[in-house]
Amino acid sequence: MRTKRIPASSFLLRPRIALLGLLAMLAWTFAGNGCGGGDGSRDQARDRDAGGAGKSARQASPAGPIATLPAGTPVLFISIETFRHDHMSRNGYERETTPFLDEFASEGAYFSNCYAQCSWTLPSMLTLISSLPPPVCGIKDGVVPVPKAGAETVTETAEMELEIFSDAHTTLAEALRERGYRTIGISTSGHLIQRQGFTQGFDRFDETGCMWGTAECALPRALEAIESSPSPDSLFVWVHLFDPHFDEHGRPPRYVPPAGYETMFGSDEQRDETGRVVANYDRKLRYTDDKLREFFARLDASGRLDRFLVVITGDHGEEFNEKGRWGHSKALTNTLLHVPLIIRLPGGQAAGRVAPDLVRHLDVMPTILDLLGIPAPAAAEGASLKAALEGRALPPLSVYAETRRMGLAMLCLIDPALDRKVVMDFRSRAIQLYDFVGDPREEADLSTANSAEARDLAFRLKAMSEEMSKRAVIETAPGNLDERERERLRSLGYLGGG
Ligand SMILES: [Zn+2]
Repeated sequence: MRTKRIPASSFLLRPRIALLGLLAMLAWTFAGNGCGGGDGSRDQARDRDAGGAGKSARQASPAGPIATLPAGTPVLFISIETFRHDHMSRNGYERETTPFLDEFASEGAYFSNCYAQCSWTLPSMLTLISSLPPPVCGIKDGVVPVPKAGAETVTETAEMELEIFSDAHTTLAEALRERGYRTIGISTSGHLIQRQGFTQGFDRFDETGCMWGTAECALPRALEAIESSPSPDSLFVWVHLFDPHFDEHGRPPRYVPPAGYETMFGSDEQRDETGRVVANYDRKLRYTDDKLREFFARLDASGRLDRFLVVITGDHGEEFNEKGRWGHSKALTNTLLHVPLIIRLPGGQAAGRVAPDLVRHLDVMPTILDLLGIPAPAAAEGASLKAALEGRALPPLSVYAETRRMGLAMLCLIDPALDRKVVMDFRSRAIQLYDFVGDPREEADLSTANSAEARDLAFRLKAMSEEMSKRAVIETAPGNLDERERERLRSLGYLGGG
């Protein structure tokens, strides 16, 4: 049983008048087409769908060292649900889904090959905030149905058990609080809560005010947290935006466009089912982008924006029937793992840079700490990406990812040295092998034609997983979910039903 308890608090929301002004964007001095990160053909191949030659690409800041940020530099960390890299308009997507984030990415560095370590929220977010891979974090299902005594099947009326992220691990919020930061978290997801260990290190954690809520609820609370502080110095604010997530689990899941966005991107009349679903997802993404524009305009008008180190990423991607699946968590395709990553530094450092190297959520926490001159916890397994922000190549970083929800045991390894991705399903023993660079949509499974290579990589993947699992810290507690929570989790596909 856990002993550490951090009280959750609800913020009082002050009425807001009209926005004070538009965000004063940094003037783009250059309008070149260079992607600024890689000049080799391999790098260009890796970046081919990443907007390197896209309309928003700008010539990067000159390569050079980035000085350690002043002590107490405030940090704003925004995670966005089900945010697919290839649905960002800067990355060549056909719709203007992210005009604000496109601009914002140009004011900082954009990592065009960032991969999540899990395809659903809780394990993925835990890796982000701890720099520990999912097997070490120890979360498989999050909420586990426990059969009643004597029952032959797990039913929806069974008791629930919560898997908990252990206090033994160190989070980004804990590392910053140890250095005197005031740490504030605002959750909109029922997985990112105190009961599952997510709130470690937060002085204030708002997990009730905007649960399953919109950016219109969460972002003003983040603004309130920042503006009510006498100075942004030594402030860490994390906010999760739930909006692009589907509203109802099913086949296909239902994405409800926000009010006023129903006809954005045209009428759905001539679209097939997939087209309608994708259009609604895109509308929700655009809504999120519009709300972020308002939020950052306000932060900029108050003179605080440029003090912050800002990190924005997606927690994982989404599937739109590309391989017969919808939603997330059930596979490890690139559509589920390839996510945007923006790092915007104070003073316009690294502005316009596009880093094409393969990077991971695992690396985000060590990067933030390195930029602040704070040593990463000894257990952190990621690498600092500071060299990429300085315009230098990173050493090859292998991506390990897994999903183990609802009995799945699916692992994958992306090896940048071999340009290969191997996926292994432990239940069926099936192995898939892909050309990671040449076949980003994973259309040609090479495992039959290259069986020895596929087998070798699968053995390596299995050994990695087993080694990491030895270091797992697993804690559980009774679920005690009320019927409303159960219904909400069920509607989102998190309880039973796959
Ligand atoms: Zn998620």
